[in-house]
Amino acid sequence: MPELPELQALAEGLDAALAGRVVTGVRAHHPATLKTAEPPLEALTGQPVERVWRRGKLIGLDVAGGLHVVIHLMQAGRLSLAPSPSGRPARTASLDIDLEGERALRLRELSSTRRASVHVLDDAGLAAHRPLTRLGPEPIGLGVEDWRAALGGDGAVLHTALRDGRRVAGIGRAYASDIMWAARLAPFTRAGSLDDDALARLVRAADAVLTQALERARGRITTEMPNKEARVTAVHGHHGEPCLRCGTRLEHVAFNEYDLVYCPACQTGGRIYRDRRMSRFLD
Ligand SMILES: [Zn+2]
Repeated sequence: MPELPELQALAEGLDAALAGRVVTGVRAHHPATLKTAEPPLEALTGQPVERVWRRGKLIGLDVAGGLHVVIHLMQAGRLSLAPSPSGRPARTASLDIDLEGERALRLRELSSTRRASVHVLDDAGLAAHRPLTRLGPEPIGLGVEDWRAALGGDGAVLHTALRDGRRVAGIGRAYASDIMWAARLAPFTRAGSLDDDALARLVRAADAVLTQALERARGRITTEMPNKEARVTAVHGHHGEPCLRCGTRLEHVAFNEYDLVYCPACQTGGRIYRDRRMSRFLD
């Protein structure tokens, strides 16, 4: 699933390509995708796109006339600018926004469970849109005290807290693992147990990991998200491979139905979590 760096690069690429282009038509291909009835989808037709933006993991289009399209791609949604489609829509098609110049902003979903969503909102609707109003601060450039406040003092597992968009926006499982590796924090560290030194390491790591990932993403993503990518994460998805910092074999432990990858030398003082069932009770 794309996270802050990839979605930010995509929003910037789409903004450069779409700003000023007039919407010539909108077609919803799947009933589950469009979550709003008012303003109607047709209200977008004839209006120029003003801006494409990202907040958290949401992509937004501001359209003239005080209209906004907010897109949540979820796990399997894909958004790209493509030549206007002809013929019957593909099975993966969710929504097309046709633009002048025979281009279309296409939302597809590569999964039979349709979770991606599109909301068409007016100014008041955007201001009250809960997925946006509930988002925590953006992590890049966020100060230590803002991080402390965002994470809270509770007993949540840090990896879970990092992925909770209401605490801090835009981080998913891939960058949460990479940030914890970069900060040399153990997989089940508690958000509320970080001392000043650990918190400072976390803040520096989050900034560095996300900033570097954003720079890389800008180099390869413009108006389409690549399906397969070379290694762009340091540890996420790479258990069994050598740690990029010390060469130790990366280990993994089951956590909330996925693998949390860590370096025993860098993060746990050599400890390897053998009882993988235990980790299920820790979230
Ligand atoms: Zn290491």
